[in-house]
Amino acid sequence: MDSITDIVVVGAGAAGISAMRVLARANCTSLLLEASPRIGGRAWTVMPKREQHVDLGCGWLHSAEQNPWVQVAEEAGVSVDRRQAAWGKQYQNLDFNPEEQKAARKFLRDWNSEMWERPPETDSAWDAASRVEGVERWRPYLERVVGAVSGKRLDEVSVTDFMNYHQASTEADWRLPVGFGHLVAASLPREANTLVATPVTGIVLEPFGVRLETRSGTLRARAAILTVSTNVLASGSIALPTALTDWQAAASDLSLGSNEKVFLEIVSPSDFEPETQVVGNPRSSITGAYYIRPLGRNVVESFYGGEAASEIWSLGPAHAYDFATNELVRLFGSKARSSLRPLTISGWKQDPWVLGSYSCASPRKSIARTQLARAYDGRIFFAGEATHRTAFSTVHGAFLSGERAAQEALHALSV
Ligand SMILES: Cc1cc2nc3c(=O)[nH]c(=O)nc-3n(C[C@H](O)[C@H](O)[C@H](O)COP(=O)(O)OP(=O)(O)OC[C@H]3O[C@@H](n4cnc5c(N)ncnc54)[C@H](O)[C@@H]3O)c2cc1C
Repeated sequence: MDSITDIVVVGAGAAGISAMRVLARANCTSLLLEASPRIGGRAWTVMPKREQHVDLGCGWLHSAEQNPWVQVAEEAGVSVDRRQAAWGKQYQNLDFNPEEQKAARKFLRDWNSEMWERPPETDSAWDAASRVEGVERWRPYLERVVGAVSGKRLDEVSVTDFMNYHQASTEADWRLPVGFGHLVAASLPREANTLVATPVTGIVLEPFGVRLETRSGTLRARAAILTVSTNVLASGSIALPTALTDWQAAASDLSLGSNEKVFLEIVSPSDFEPETQVVGNPRSSITGAYYIRPLGRNVVESFYGGEAASEIWSLGPAHAYDFATNELVRLFGSKARSSLRPLTISGWKQDPWVLGSYSCASPRKSIARTQLARAYDGRIFFAGEATHRTAFSTVHGAFLSGERAAQEALHALSV
């Protein structure tokens, strides 16, 4: 480990991988360091049973018409499913009649108009919601929606940040039958120098660039690109130069929310219609959204955000499986119980290399995204979903941020 690498990338998630794709095309030496034994980060496809592979993290190509991963998939010969998602539709109006659905949609529209036309001075999404007619009735519903999108409670969400995302996003959400995690991992160039199971524990400024301390020894580089999640950055698990205190503060202002998934296997597929969706309890914030037989597979993908994810996961995986099953039995009847089996479950909050789901700016802190994305002294660069001003919390935001940081580093080193 004596020679100096031009650019070391820390973290092999979507951002680190896209940075390595740029560096692989440049005339420089590069190395990717990943703490966990696998690559992909929050993009992770697992196969708990044959032919039943599922994504524990990202699954949807949001803003699909402009999502760079569509091109990556097409170039790799990977098929993209362009069918419209069943989100927002309550299968057979179970426990949610059409009148209620209409009223809930109106409430969401009014809340959006309020944020757009009269954004509260506090920048808090709750302060905007509290002024909308029907808030007492629809608050739990809105908390679930915001929890899914942002991973946090309404009062923890910045209106400016929320609107920045929604103005830039499109309605189209596509999928990758092969699994999003598989595509992300496979998109790392084969020739890329990569060390997995090698956590970086510290970065030190040196006259030649930076010194990286890892559990396997010390590395020297002219520049480093840091792509770790905001919660990892803010946790201090990587000792950083004091000059980077402002970057760590920005990361704290963009902390990750809670979003988790439970997958249930369906053993009697005829009991459930493919490509349908239900909300467990539209009158509670502690509830899930259940995507039934996505892509025709015999699974239920259950998704929880914000308070629901924190509360349910605090009681352990067995409780989460029971919670999902009980919500479905309440809607579909007791016969459903014998048709559903625990399959697999995520644990992003407990994952020491991630520590949450995706970044969300606290009220008045949306500017932290621009602060976090700044380079330090032409030798430390920052990427990762949280650094994208409008496509944060997504895999395409991570991809674009990795490209940006790699280009900045190449420019700084004049290579
Ligand atoms: C449940 C869930 C559902 C989601 N659904 C979607 C979706 O449908 N569509 C979408 O677009 N996005 C979705 N996302 C968000 C998306 O997965 C992320 O925005 C994206 O994958 C983040 O990529 P990243 O490279 O910025 O960070 P990460 O994927 O977190 O990559 C950072 C890497 O750094 C590594 N690391 C950490 N510490 C160290 C260290 N000390 N040394 C070396 N390496 C280290 C980590 O192990 C990790 O591999 C979802 C996320 C979750 C959790």
